[in-house]
Amino acid sequence: MGVRFVVLGKQGAGKGTQCVRLSHHYVVPHISTGDMFRAAVKSGTEIGKQVQAIIESGDLVPDAVVMEVVAERLERDGAKRRGFILDGFPRSLVQAEMLAAFLAPEDLDLAVDISVPSSLILRRLTGRRVCTDCGAIYHVNARPKVDWICDLCGGEVVQRDDDTEEAIRRRLALYEHETAPLVAWYEQRSQLVSVSGVGSPDAVTARLVRAIDSGLSGSQRTGSQRNGPRG
Ligand code: AMP
Repeated sequence: MGVRFVVLGKQGAGKGTQCVRLSHHYVVPHISTGDMFRAAVKSGTEIGKQVQAIIESGDLVPDAVVMEVVAERLERDGAKRRGFILDGFPRSLVQAEMLAAFLAPEDLDLAVDISVPSSLILRRLTGRRVCTDCGAIYHVNARPKVDWICDLCGGEVVQRDDDTEEAIRRRLALYEHETAPLVAWYEQRSQLVSVSGVGSPDAVTARLVRAIDSGLSGSQRTGSQRNGPRG
């Protein structure tokens, strides 16, 4: 069975970038609720229509809708059993409890918290640009090679509708209120691994893999033992 973990951290802590790398390293799918909602909005599905205005304002999608989307994805391709990295979910204690009930009698291996000070977050997010096709992340100071065309898939690279300063402040406040308590919740369950997200992406990845492997070896489960690391 592959590793099963959730990644916590403020918007702009580097979760998206790091989750892509961790998903290659541990050979499990990266499941981002934000990416799934943006894809649903883009393709105009029923769920997309329901959540479009909420996402653009920086508010949270109702728990039942998020859980439905996550449950459907975890059932697909046997992900629930084969392992996964959840990014952007859970975002509240209610969601964490819903996830635990969904996975029971199994459980997560770890909750990984990437911590970054809010002052750095604001600088990162206002300059952030993303590929509308594959979700790859760029910055006004780290652009794609050709004029806002994604280096990886050729998709269009744009600023997210919710990366305006007003929406970012709203999301940071929501994080403190809704999501920060999850860190203590997972710590109480002895599932928490906390890592600083300050530094180059490579340095943060190396730090994460060390911390995750050591957290997993506590429960006799390492990605290296079961899947063989890549990348
Ligand atoms: P993200 O890309 O993780 O920042 O998510 C973008 C937006 O999708 C958020 O601002 C929310 O509106 C919505 N969203 C994503 N995940 C969740 C979640 N677990 N609970 C509620 N809303 C979510």
